[in-house]
Amino acid sequence: MPRRYDAVIAGGSIAGLAFASEAAELGLSVLVAEQHEEIGEPEKCDGLVSLRGLRTLGYLPRTEAVQNRVSTGLIHSPDGRSFAVNATALEVVVLDRSAYDKQVAETARSRGAEVLTGSRVTEVVQGRDEVTATVGGEKVAAAYLVDATGPASAPRSGILPAAKYEIEADWVRERVVEVFPDAQKFPGFFAWVIPFGRHLAKVGAAGMGTNPFKALDAFLSDKPHTVIRKVSAPIYVGGPAPHFVAGRTVFVGESAGQVKPTTAGGIMTSIAGAAMAARRVADAVRSGEPRLLGGYRRDWDAKFVREMKAMLRLRRVFTKMSNRDIETLFNVVATPKIVMKLARGDFDFHASALLGALGVQGLLNVAKLVATSEVRALLSERRAAVSQQSI
Ligand SMILES: Cc1cc2nc3c(=O)[nH]c(=O)nc-3n(C[C@H](O)[C@H](O)[C@H](O)COP(=O)(O)OP(=O)(O)OC[C@H]3O[C@@H](n4cnc5c(N)ncnc54)[C@H](O)[C@@H]3O)c2cc1C
Repeated sequence: MPRRYDAVIAGGSIAGLAFASEAAELGLSVLVAEQHEEIGEPEKCDGLVSLRGLRTLGYLPRTEAVQNRVSTGLIHSPDGRSFAVNATALEVVVLDRSAYDKQVAETARSRGAEVLTGSRVTEVVQGRDEVTATVGGEKVAAAYLVDATGPASAPRSGILPAAKYEIEADWVRERVVEVFPDAQKFPGFFAWVIPFGRHLAKVGAAGMGTNPFKALDAFLSDKPHTVIRKVSAPIYVGGPAPHFVAGRTVFVGESAGQVKPTTAGGIMTSIAGAAMAARRVADAVRSGEPRLLGGYRRDWDAKFVREMKAMLRLRRVFTKMSNRDIETLFNVVATPKIVMKLARGDFDFHASALLGALGVQGLLNVAKLVATSEVRALLSERRAAVSQQSI
């Protein structure tokens, strides 16, 4: 007889580990299987998060998992202009993702979860009453399989290739995150510099139809630096997947598309999605009623659907912009009033924060630049929000 669990989780990164931790706390028997030999390795993520979001979820990092605290976000235009947003109130930090994932794995284990490394999940077979799978060569059975395999299962259309280097360079500003949108060099995305220590930065680039390594090399060509490590990893910007549940398989984290379409940041949203899924799987296990899993999508939508829709709209508008449009957009956004509002906004719900800061007038100005149905939809939603506030 194969060993039997309430849930077997494929993938021991942040979503799989958060699911296991929450489900074990709710009394479920869970097994997490990670294909790599060490939790958190190889590290691909830059680890930029807001402590505010993690605090709400009960996932604050230990001191040793925090590499840096960010004071400023510096946004550069293709022509070399820039504006700075004071990020102190946004509580943005740079995590050592490897250390952070190990911390979450430790909590999951202390709550009773089994965490196996060097164990790939294969040969998944969904039956009517259970799922069977091979985990590192051994057959196991479970009431539910949780797919936390990341981009491997995410909708293909939302994947962008990305390149990331860890570098040492004198020009890195220790607490300043820098973003470089450029429609020609990084179509539909941008290059970024995330400092994680004195003269140390995680530098990356992504774009539609580009070779990200060539784009990143060109970006760094006039900036003296030493490369410490190179990482090739896809990012996901396609928005939530159409289905979070298929039979007895439950998708969490990046495999469910629980990632911000604007920045590809997925740490906070993946933990949130995993926690919601764990509660609904616990209900389904206790009652023997798989239909209760339907509540998972409702929980997600209640918290994120509005923000994700706004992010997807902003992304579509951004991908249509030329460098000239981006320059003009700078004139709209880089005003003291809007920049101050952004500094008081929300790192995790940044689309709502940006739209609130722009207001109806700012969006009218954007509409003059890119007269798309997306901008018109954003404008009418903003007008509706303003009229609701004034009732
Ligand atoms: C270059 C880069 C920079 C990023 N920077 C940030 C950032 O600054 N801030 C932020 O919030 N987000 C960032 N992200 C996104 C963030 O890393 C992901 O959204 C998040 O890690 C998703 O977590 P996950 O657990 O869903 O998937 P993943 O982290 O992708 O993990 C999936 C896991 O499943 C394992 N796996 C796959 N298949 C199997 C199998 N069959 N059996 C067993 N194990 C398997 C993999 O080995 C992996 O460990 C970045 C991503 C990239 C690529």
